[in-house]
Amino acid sequence: MATIFTKIINHEAPAEIVYQDDLVTAFRDINPKAPVHLMIIPNKEIPTVNDVSAEDEQVLGHLFTVAKHVATELGLSEKGYRLIVNCNQDAGQVIWHIHMHFLGGKDLGPLLSETE
Ligand code: AMP
Repeated sequence: MATIFTKIINHEAPAEIVYQDDLVTAFRDINPKAPVHLMIIPNKEIPTVNDVSAEDEQVLGHLFTVAKHVATELGLSEKGYRLIVNCNQDAGQVIWHIHMHFLGGKDLGPLLSETE
């Protein structure tokens, strides 16, 4: 069940951690799609949104508090940023540990390209 993200949380794999507390860790994406691209993740191993339960609501809500915090720290609050959570294959999820993408630092354009 453990992924590379658990190793990052435990400081057993390299990552540029920008925030960490008892519930949540935020670090820079290794393959950034924007000038600022962070992963904001629960320290608890939850593979996908499909695996979320009511007892996870505190930690998952805390992802947003941390997103607000890092946005302030990085000076992105006013210009804005995008938060994305992918679930399973059609969304392109490749790491089976729930993560919130935090993207910012430029005009990100429309959320999705036109598709049929
Ligand atoms: P997703 O497609 O939603 O599963 O996104 C997974 C994200 O994790 C991608 O943006 C990857 O670039 C990122 N990623 C994978 N491995 C690492 C790593 N070791 N350190 C930081 N980011 C990573």
